[in-house]
Amino acid sequence: SAVLGITRGSDGTAVAPFDPSRDAIGATPGFGNEPDTDPALAANRDWGRRILARVPASTLGVDTIAASRIADPTTLDTVIDGVARAGAAWGARPAAERAALLHRAGLALAANRDRLIEVAAAETGKTIAEADPEVSEAIDFAHYYAERARELDVVQGARFVPSQLTVVTPPWNFPIAIPAGGVLAALAAGSGVIIKPAKLSQRTGAVMVEALWEAGIPRDLLVLADLADHGLGTRLVSHPAVDRVILTGAYETAELFRSFRPELPLLAETSGKNAIIVTPSADLDLAANDVVKSAFGHAGQKCSAASLVILVGSVADSERFHRQLLDAASSMRVDWPENPSAQMGPIVEPATGKLLHALTELGLGEEWMLEPERLDDSGRLWSPGIRTGVAAGSYFHLTEFFGPVLGVMHAEDLDEAIRMQNAVDYGLTAGIHTLDSDELATWLDRVEAGNLYVNRGITGAIVQRQPFGGWKRSAVGAGTKAGGPSYLFGLGSWMPEEGRI
Ligand code: GLU
Repeated sequence: SAVLGITRGSDGTAVAPFDPSRDAIGATPGFGNEPDTDPALAANRDWGRRILARVPASTLGVDTIAASRIADPTTLDTVIDGVARAGAAWGARPAAERAALLHRAGLALAANRDRLIEVAAAETGKTIAEADPEVSEAIDFAHYYAERARELDVVQGARFVPSQLTVVTPPWNFPIAIPAGGVLAALAAGSGVIIKPAKLSQRTGAVMVEALWEAGIPRDLLVLADLADHGLGTRLVSHPAVDRVILTGAYETAELFRSFRPELPLLAETSGKNAIIVTPSADLDLAANDVVKSAFGHAGQKCSAASLVILVGSVADSERFHRQLLDAASSMRVDWPENPSAQMGPIVEPATGKLLHALTELGLGEEWMLEPERLDDSGRLWSPGIRTGVAAGSYFHLTEFFGPVLGVMHAEDLDEAIRMQNAVDYGLTAGIHTLDSDELATWLDRVEAGNLYVNRGITGAIVQRQPFGGWKRSAVGAGTKAGGPSYLFGLGSWMPEEGRI
């Protein structure tokens, strides 16, 4: 069956997936995606086991975090001032020089693959199968943005003015790739960077930053910040010397940042509530498998995850589809990442609040097809859950939970399914399984999401091939796509250049 990756701009216009001038595969000379570690090779499995054996006692990043502690406003202001000055000097260097350093950063990330996996598993519970592609993505960001940076110097009729200081505030769910992506993009675009990793994954952020320092990125240009309290965080984001903030996190966090400083240029990738539609023409076995992977990979803790599957017409009565879905989900091996065979790891913290609600409570008319079970006393290890009978407009339909629970919805026809898919406030990823080209055309025309996936899972965007970013409440601010051709263009300002038009 067909496998396509199609992306759209944040303004809703389709970015042709293979536009020869900008987005084609291979359109960035010298760039190719870094391969993941192949677990089919015995030597790689041994390598993985050695990493996982270190996880329980891992202390990677601890010293770097201690050294990056910022405890009071005066220290913070001094750091801000220093990075902005280093950034001004860096931005004045030719893009080719910045590119050379970024390529070295990519090599250093590759050389630290094992340490990055170790610390991410130790800190967030991420399995090796999920952490390894993150390292590949981080390496991709380095080499891709290095090459894209060269374009900034050659745009006709306009001059790119780099930011001096960019603040990067990444989330814990992709503790390697997302911090690396923000930092490397800002550096490529000529800015100094302060990175403030999420508390739950700050050691992973530290090990990533150590790799970049090791590559020769100056320590005064790239600063890791462990802020002692929220007040300092507010001060950082509101500080007038900060030119830009790159945020990946909840929509509410973006709103909060905006409330601190309304005019702040913000590039935010925010929440998602994503669905896969399955039509009667689909290959149902493939669909069930892709739904399970998209729903339960990294225990559902991806902005891109499938939280809903919408079954169209007769699929709702298909015993085959339901059997496949149930068997695939219930046979997943759930364990701590130290077990190399774990297919789904723990959630990052004990379930509370709305996630605990989603794992334990049913809405009106809903039933468990597979009831989640708490597998140990930690509150973090849960088996996957599937609820059926999710009604249009219900709490489960419209709310993001960020955990291993999938909801099944029924639609009379494709029209209704698309309406259900679009009814949420967000528009990050969306999928369809269909082998009917008319259905596909209808869907492509109407679906409201940034990253569209046809006859495949909806997670795991790949640098250059599937630039990542959403619409609606999944993006706030400039909204260009990470890992895509125009991302760096949004990281500085543009001045008209007379005589060059
Ligand atoms: N880029 C990731 C993916 O495509 C998702 C990132 C996120 O969860 O924020 O799966």
